[in-house]
Amino acid sequence: MNTPSVGRREPPGASETLWPSEPITLAPETSARQLVLKKIQELSISGRHDAFMVADLDVLASRHRTFLQALPRVQPFYAVKCNSRPWLLLVLAALGTGFDCASQGELEQVLSLGVAPSRIIFANPCKAVSHIRYAARCGVQILTFDSEEELIKLAQHHPGARLLLRIQTPGSRSTFPLHTKFGAHLEACGHLLQVARELGLAVVGASFHVGSDCHTPQSYRQAIADCHSVFEMGCKAGHHMSLLNLGAGFPGIEGSEARFEEMARVVNAALAQYFPEATGVEVIAEPGRFYAESVCTAAVSIIAKKASLEPGGHRKLAYYLNEGHYGAFRVFLRDPVPRIPIVVKEFPTEPRLFPCTLYGPTCDAFDRLFSTEVQLPELDVGDWLIFPDVGAYSSCMSSTFNGFPITTVYDAMSPQLRSLLEAVP
Ligand SMILES: *Cc1c(COP(=O)(O)O)cnc(C)c1O
Repeated sequence: MNTPSVGRREPPGASETLWPSEPITLAPETSARQLVLKKIQELSISGRHDAFMVADLDVLASRHRTFLQALPRVQPFYAVKCNSRPWLLLVLAALGTGFDCASQGELEQVLSLGVAPSRIIFANPCKAVSHIRYAARCGVQILTFDSEEELIKLAQHHPGARLLLRIQTPGSRSTFPLHTKFGAHLEACGHLLQVARELGLAVVGASFHVGSDCHTPQSYRQAIADCHSVFEMGCKAGHHMSLLNLGAGFPGIEGSEARFEEMARVVNAALAQYFPEATGVEVIAEPGRFYAESVCTAAVSIIAKKASLEPGGHRKLAYYLNEGHYGAFRVFLRDPVPRIPIVVKEFPTEPRLFPCTLYGPTCDAFDRLFSTEVQLPELDVGDWLIFPDVGAYSSCMSSTFNGFPITTVYDAMSPQLRSLLEAVP
């Protein structure tokens, strides 16, 4: 294994899994998509058809620009759970984002990059005591809570913390709803703020999360208005309220630009109304999907195929792929509509499409990519399919169930991005 050296401090106890290998530097004027096609060609020539992914790290820089332009008052703290590839985190650290961690493991990983504890928020409202103590030891000060029980743990194990009260967002709709699991009811907030005060804890603001991949942009408006009420209650209880955390929910997939812009308009207008700049309130958010989703592209191949005739003579196909629900595609079943992959095959004329079921490789019948069929042409064992936009909640949720290995991810970056990393002290 070559030893990576670019733009990072030597993390204590760095292992091969923590730093897999150097990113590929793309030749000038070459795109990550071209790299995917080149790898497919190389593998096919040598008779191999292993699934793989390419992470185009340059995408992060452009997502970061877009985020800051659309939400100029909001400082991003990248949500590590969305995709914790070491090089991805390293690029984000170089770009200057903060980080949202949810566990001791994520705190360790981000701190090992040399990120200052002040650039980290521990944003899991329900934490293990040992993880709270770890945060206290490392100087990670900003933590979230949504219950009295959590306050009692925090008072005992991290009394110097600066806390954010996470509230519920009941009306929001999203691909991954979070409000059933996390967030205090607005009616309970006055009491929680009082209890925090009695325990000698400092509550410094409020936070919410409208759910990952939110479909109701107006939900931000309601949540920001509710946070305004929490700020008033907090001040009344004697807290210095100065930090507002908008969570995330922003989409990341190609074609979602208009929805993101609408969210940004709603957020900016609600901030101007409820938290005008003159109040000096600092505003942060925890985007994960927005930054990571379009970074990764997966290439998978067909390992088995079945054709059947339905009554009426309609031809149906089942393709068994070498990546599936127990691998990097666990989130596909949550997508509101199935994703249509790009077929890597030349056809002399426009091919006929058939209803196809896409299965993963394991022996579990639940291991299919989508609950409905997708329309694809007739393909053969060994043919390749490409899924773009698989950078969010994909490889990080992979298992080796049934003995299928975790798909290799190749990091790629332009020479320009590499120079940026090398310039980081
Ligand atoms: C998952 C999560 C995020 C990231 O949300 P996305 O909408 O997927 O970007 C941010 N904050 C918290 C607390 C989360 O749990």
